[in-house]
Amino acid sequence: MKKVISLTIVFLFLVSCSTVPITGRKRFNVVSDAQILPTSFAQYAGFLKEHKISSDAKMTKEVQNVGVNISRAVDKFMRANGMVNEANSYRWEFNLIDDKTVNAWCMPGGKVVFYTGILPICDNTDGIAAVMGHEVAHAFAKHGQERMSSGMLQQLGGVAVAVGTSGKSSESQQIWNTAFGVGSTLGMLAFSRTHENEADKLGMVFMIMAGYQPEEAVNVWVRMSQRASSGGAPPEFLSTHPSNQTRINNLKAYMPTAIAMAKKYNAQ
Ligand SMILES: [Zn+2]
Repeated sequence: MKKVISLTIVFLFLVSCSTVPITGRKRFNVVSDAQILPTSFAQYAGFLKEHKISSDAKMTKEVQNVGVNISRAVDKFMRANGMVNEANSYRWEFNLIDDKTVNAWCMPGGKVVFYTGILPICDNTDGIAAVMGHEVAHAFAKHGQERMSSGMLQQLGGVAVAVGTSGKSSESQQIWNTAFGVGSTLGMLAFSRTHENEADKLGMVFMIMAGYQPEEAVNVWVRMSQRASSGGAPPEFLSTHPSNQTRINNLKAYMPTAIAMAKKYNAQ
């Protein structure tokens, strides 16, 4: 039995490895779009029904404008790089909810939520674009699916299949929320460091493609850092994500590459 299981794992691994576009990182993903997207769209609709949509028309419009511009950049990249089917599968949507939590996330297929609590950290349109680019990048690189896949590999099926199909039990709901950063105090930071760094890089490329200033991605993390030092961050902030200074240094170091890539992809 053990042998069968290990052979199954090896087989799954071989057929399920792919490469993240732009960064070239190898990833393991056994969750298909056909499995995940209907669940994602239903989860998103359910979330919006249960949470208060912001009545601030001006800020809502601003978040949505940035979202549309950045999703157009992602769409342009995908269509120019052999990902037409994938581009067609996204159903981009951007909503601002009235919640003081410092959070933002993007579910598979381009379903984005910003919490009003993150707006002071964003501070301006370019700051919104930095966070938007980062969140959209998680969906573009399918980080949530990768997290679900490694969970599946560990448990060989059971729970993860339940997530992919019904998504109704509280256990599968919890796995979903963890994989996609929904509902945690700082959901955008719940992913692993590898995913965070990758989303920072991809997000910067997309925000530049959409015409925003990448320096503001650095400033967002400076403000996040100031908030943390004034005692505003929850404890998991420190343990689950790269230190702010590392992140700021990485973003600064990557900026020239991101500018060159954005220029190249915009010219495609
Ligand atoms: Zn993130």
